[in-house]
Amino acid sequence: MPRMQKRPIVESIRRKCFTCGSIKEVQHKHFTMPRNTTQTTYTTNMDKKVLRKDVKGVEIKYYCSTDCAGPEFINSYDEDQFIRP
Ligand SMILES: [Zn+2]
Repeated sequence: MPRMQKRPIVESIRRKCFTCGSIKEVQHKHFTMPRNTTQTTYTTNMDKKVLRKDVKGVEIKYYCSTDCAGPEFINSYDEDQFIRP
């Protein structure tokens, strides 16, 4: 059996959009992570891991659409960029 990478299920939430200010279903989130002040800890027990949204000092911006989120959220890669010579 190959190990499949499981993507976490993201529950859809409604928040105020950081750009346009309307309350809509969140399409994009931008996490501003706090600067690491302590030694990096590696989580070996995945049941005890801290979710990114629960990290102390994290700032989350919500966006209702890709237009509001900005160009950094648009996937601008094309297939050719994945081909290795
Ligand atoms: Zn918006």
